[in-house]
Amino acid sequence: MAVIGLVGLGLIGGSLGLDFRSSGHRVLGVSQKQSTCEQALLKGVVDKASQDLALLKDCEVVFICTPIPLVLPTLKKLQAVLHPHTVITDVASVKGPIVEMATAQWPQFVGGHPMAGTAHQGIEAALVSLFHQRPYILTPIASTHAKALDTITHLVSDLGSRLVVCSPEVHDQMVAQVSHLPVMVSAALLLSVVDPANVQQFAGSGFQDTTRVGGGNPDLGLAMAQNNRTALLESLKQFRAALDHLEEQIHEQDWNSLHAQLEASRHIRTGFFP
Ligand code: NAP
Repeated sequence: MAVIGLVGLGLIGGSLGLDFRSSGHRVLGVSQKQSTCEQALLKGVVDKASQDLALLKDCEVVFICTPIPLVLPTLKKLQAVLHPHTVITDVASVKGPIVEMATAQWPQFVGGHPMAGTAHQGIEAALVSLFHQRPYILTPIASTHAKALDTITHLVSDLGSRLVVCSPEVHDQMVAQVSHLPVMVSAALLLSVVDPANVQQFAGSGFQDTTRVGGGNPDLGLAMAQNNRTALLESLKQFRAALDHLEEQIHEQDWNSLHAQLEASRHIRTGFFP
């Protein structure tokens, strides 16, 4: 069993802590606010918590679970505290702007991204089994140490996640389609409501499902767009073309073609989620 450090005890850091502790690991947590550290202890997310990174000095593995813009600055601060053999990983939703730089600074770095979340944030939002049966992507590069990758791979399997290994570039292109684009499309759905006062009365489970990710953490949505701009713009272009196509079929009352498209979309989704 390992001694695991978490920096950033929010939705993702807190949920990792709950599952690592129930797998028998010792978990030490650092967060910005004293109240978050206290709540993390009360919730059983960590064995010990502090606002001081020095708490993590003897950890074998450290997960950086801060907001995206703080991942590299946190790594820099950790360098002064950790033994050089400590494996560091992050959970940020973008990998291109992080992995090369982080590995150059800390050779035992492995980029990671658990593909799970909710519309909530902060320690109150931490959930047991959030990552169970969800993809957990690791993004090694040529200089990633095999042993460090192995260490994180084992911890991912303790979470019950489905391991996916790819380059940071492939990760960013894929998450633009399956995560960052859906956030923008779902936000556009919410922003296009013409009569918000009546929505609560009329909206059922379909609207609730399709707007979940658009109603999430705005800081995270912004950081996705800023850090994965090119791939997100490409995905938005493809989405707009597909939407235009559907609109054209409705405008032309081309019901056969529209039906064929909806049949195709149903088939695609069944393939994704059998
Ligand atoms: P979150 O719930 O807002 O948690 C982030 C936590 O970081 C905050 O609770 C904050 O704790 C702490 N923090 C902020 N600045 C800090 C600092 N300087 N030092 C230590 N702790 C600090 O956000 P999240 O959703 O968990 O996202 C965290 C990371 O996970 C991001 O990189 C994101 O890209 C990634 N991610 C998110 C999702 C998702 O769906 N939400 C999914 C996969 C990956 P305090 O309360 O102490 O201020």
